[in-house]
Amino acid sequence: MSKVAEASSIDDASVDDLQASFRGELIRPSDTGYEEHRKVWNGSIDRRPGLIARCAGVADVLAAVRFARKRELLTAVRGGGHSFPGLSVCDGGVVIDLGSMKGIHVDPEARTVRAQAGVLLGELDRETQAFGLAVPAGIVTHTGLAGLTLGGGIGWIMRKYGLTIDQLLSVDVITADGEFVKASENENADLFWGVRGGAGNFGIVTEFEFRLNPLGPQVVAGPVFWPMEETPSVLRFYRDWIADCPDELMTIVVQRKAPALPVVPPDLVGKHVVAVVSCYAGPVEDGEKLVRPLKAFGSPVLDLCVPKPFLVHQGMFDPSFRHGCWYYVRSCDVAELNDDVIDIVAEHGKRITSPLTSIALWQMGGAVARVGESETAFNGRSAGFTFNINGNSESADGFEAEREWARMYWSALEPYHTSVYVNFLMEEGEERIRQAYGAEKYERLKALKRKYDPTNFFRLNQNIRPE
Ligand SMILES: Cc1cc2nc3c(=O)[nH]c(=O)nc-3n(C[C@H](O)[C@H](O)[C@H](O)COP(=O)(O)OP(=O)(O)OC[C@H]3O[C@@H](n4cnc5c(N)ncnc54)[C@H](O)[C@@H]3O)c2cc1C
Repeated sequence: MSKVAEASSIDDASVDDLQASFRGELIRPSDTGYEEHRKVWNGSIDRRPGLIARCAGVADVLAAVRFARKRELLTAVRGGGHSFPGLSVCDGGVVIDLGSMKGIHVDPEARTVRAQAGVLLGELDRETQAFGLAVPAGIVTHTGLAGLTLGGGIGWIMRKYGLTIDQLLSVDVITADGEFVKASENENADLFWGVRGGAGNFGIVTEFEFRLNPLGPQVVAGPVFWPMEETPSVLRFYRDWIADCPDELMTIVVQRKAPALPVVPPDLVGKHVVAVVSCYAGPVEDGEKLVRPLKAFGSPVLDLCVPKPFLVHQGMFDPSFRHGCWYYVRSCDVAELNDDVIDIVAEHGKRITSPLTSIALWQMGGAVARVGESETAFNGRSAGFTFNINGNSESADGFEAEREWARMYWSALEPYHTSVYVNFLMEEGEERIRQAYGAEKYERLKALKRKYDPTNFFRLNQNIRPE
């Protein structure tokens, strides 16, 4: 699409026309609420759309797509608004905001759940955990289910139950033509393949249907902390400890300054720490037994790895990723934690300055790796670990220094990079998107894009260009 309309070119009369058949809310720059609704989670993103269409349901999404399409307006699609690079808001053009579409329906007998595109992870967990069931998803409750699922979805129970997309049964999609289609293994199977990792390139998913699996509600979970200077010995122990661990165990290594939270003793707050955070998706007694050696290693400065409701564990990282702070991420997968990688981790962890800056080093494998690489558009199932290097600050103050730290950390790991998870990319250019999918899958995705969105109407995403 060559012509991109500016905010000013969305004339009031046509918005009034749209309003006549719109159940949700249409917000223009002069409207109350505009400032609130144009914001996304990442405070460093400051864009001013010409229209925010807060859809109440599928009919509104259809109307908004047709409206934007007809006028060739730049169009952003917003689920939970947590895209690291802020891809769900644009300057000028239209934001199709699905955030009000919150329907969740659990069928405990069939062990399935249907969730609309505005659902956040914590909302989904609350409904499913009421039945002791869960969809494997992410680790921060205010993340949007939609964007997370469309990129793959990694989280605390993925080693047991796979990626979020591995439990996806079907989706309802509005295509770039403004048509409603369903996709599943049996219907539009090519589209179903593409939405499982293709990151919103093929249409707007209005509703997801997932298989549910048993979980908790009580699990053994939480972090054990050591001083940052002990990173080399902690990670060498950790590497051996997880080598033969069961799929029920999922861990994330965190480096940061200890946060000022009620559970953290005042004398530890602000100190550099390394933590191994665990979650055991199985019986509490088995989990307690398994984490015992971790808890006994060296002299932890804080141990919060205990039985607790899964919902409580899911909320653990929420305070570290508040809305409106300035966020920057660099990410890569590595095959293993060899001694060099451990040295790099140890060296860069010490240099953290901002209380909001951190890394999460995700243990991959288990059920994720047992799904065939070509079965879904997601790439990197054989990754050993995923690095999420977050250079964050409260505001613009000091942000550039945090970004630079994240880049240096990531660059130091470059000899060991394998793949990269598409949902952890910033706006890094086409070559990085190709790397995220691998050359073969990228070509397959391009062909699919030509079929479902040949004019690249949906391009504010990790974009797979049709040509
Ligand atoms: C604090 C935080 C924690 C995170 N934790 C995890 C984690 O544990 N695991 C993990 O896998 N990822 C995680 N992520 C990454 C996350 O998966 C992506 O940022 C994801 O895109 C967020 O989805 P969203 O709906 O909130 O984002 P949005 O910003 O709303 O959308 C992200 C992208 O998806 C597109 N999109 C959104 N909804 C739809 C839809 N219904 N149909 C079509 N396209 C759509 C948007 O256009 C945009 O390109 C995290 C991100 C943050 C900020």
